[in-house]
Amino acid sequence: MNIMDIIEKGLAAKEPLLEAEALALLQVQPDSREAFYLRWAGLCKSRALSGGKAEIHAQIGLDSGPCPKVCQFCAFASVNNDPNAPKKPEASLEEVLAYAEGYAEAGANAILLLSTEAYDFDTFLEMGVRVRERIGFGTPLLANTGDLTPAKAEALRNAGFAGLYHALRLGEGEVTDIRQETRLSTMEAARMAGLPLSTCLEPIGPEHSAEAIYAIAAQMLALKPITAGVGRRVAVPGVEASRNGVLSQPQNAVYAAAYRLIDHRSRLTASAHSELMANSGANIAWSEVGSNPRDRESKTESGKGRSIEFIRNLFTEAGWELLSGPSPGWAG
Ligand code: SF4
Repeated sequence: MNIMDIIEKGLAAKEPLLEAEALALLQVQPDSREAFYLRWAGLCKSRALSGGKAEIHAQIGLDSGPCPKVCQFCAFASVNNDPNAPKKPEASLEEVLAYAEGYAEAGANAILLLSTEAYDFDTFLEMGVRVRERIGFGTPLLANTGDLTPAKAEALRNAGFAGLYHALRLGEGEVTDIRQETRLSTMEAARMAGLPLSTCLEPIGPEHSAEAIYAIAAQMLALKPITAGVGRRVAVPGVEASRNGVLSQPQNAVYAAAYRLIDHRSRLTASAHSELMANSGANIAWSEVGSNPRDRESKTESGKGRSIEFIRNLFTEAGWELLSGPSPGWAG
């Protein structure tokens, strides 16, 4: 199998890549000649599918758990926290509204409310309603919360949410206390409720094989998400999975470009952690405030969270134009 031919086939996007072809792309060595060609092709295809535009979505974290779902990679998981430590306070309504207003004024293309499984669902709905009242309907509001029944997905839609971020994580059911079927049925509930999907192959670490990555990619492609792509695991002190190490940026960039060539339809490919990723096809990045499962700071804007301005500069330096206005394709 000639890698250059597979890259050309993925770039042309006329027919789906075979599983063996997708696996070959995911196994390209990051420092090889093929890797640079693959990343160039990923960039070209992202530009073609997005009209040359990158987007910045803004995440507001509402709580820090401790979450009973014990995902080994998550700073909120009870397994990664001292059971005797005092519970971190949840974001107040006024804090959330101020964050949302700031993001709307700064030009975020979408805003996303994030909570753990432990967060009260009615409060989550209330936060959505109040954010909508404060900033109007000009910016799509997405939810990233626990698993959903059809009734809960419907309630999110009725509260003014326009989409759902949800992922079937690498090692779901083994390094998490959630069955794969539960994650997939949440995505189905969202689809039935008219909530388009934002997703990502995450959190990828050095221990994950191309086969494991492809198995989830194939399932996500079938769901026709608006945003997809890859996200490497972030090392957080005291978090169990951090012991397995972190992907290098070039390896992550190979995965981003490979995903871009496998996926012929998503407009947005995650996630631009760096100019290298943005130059390999990643054209969406998240700014983060409040709690963050990839940070120990209770307000991630004082830690790992990046501002809209920082990400705008990253994309501009990488040669992308930024979409102005609401991210298209979400529920009205
Ligand atoms: S990833 Fe989500 S479900 Fe898992 S422990 Fe963290 S907050 Fe809970």
